[in-house]
Amino acid sequence: ATPNRIVASSEVEQTYIMIKPDGVQRGLVGEIISRFEKKGFLLKGLKLFQCPKDLAQEHYKDLKERPFFPNLIDYITSGPVVCMAWEGDGVVASARKLIGATNPLQAEPGTIRGDLAVQTGRNVVHGSDSPDNGKREIEGELAQWESVQTPWLIE
Ligand code: GDP
Ligand code: MG
Repeated sequence: ATPNRIVASSEVEQTYIMIKPDGVQRGLVGEIISRFEKKGFLLKGLKLFQCPKDLAQEHYKDLKERPFFPNLIDYITSGPVVCMAWEGDGVVASARKLIGATNPLQAEPGTIRGDLAVQTGRNVVHGSDSPDNGKREIEGELAQWESVQTPWLIE
């Protein structure tokens, strides 16, 4: 976008990133946010949130038949999470690359999980797996703003 082009945010791709309770407890909030900031995506929403059980079950409903599902719900509801909406062209796939593989032992060094975690059941961060799920997972009103960096990031 040129600096003075106005884009309705519904047109722009967004992803839901959530720092899980282990990331909050381990003091990794700043580190994880910093990876997305430094990459050059735009932060559109942010809150610290205690996820209720029913919302955790809804968020992970595709996994409800899996043996680890009860542990997953206990894990996600065990303490506050940091909920974020990040925006930018290609942000969904790029965020998944920044996060790394589901199993942190298989995640490449340089990724968040590859650098900061050792177990699938404590993999510190969630990222939407498609633009449609990004839209579905983001709730509430987002900030309408444009970073002064935009013309230095986008041709
Ligand atoms: P993601 O998109 O990389 O987060 O992975 P999935 O959507 O497949 O799974 C969602 C989350 O469920 C993962 O991030 C893990 O926290 C958890 N999970 C997935 N597979 C397993 C597993 O085999 N064991 C355990 N304990 N947790 C798992
Ligand atoms: Mg997933």
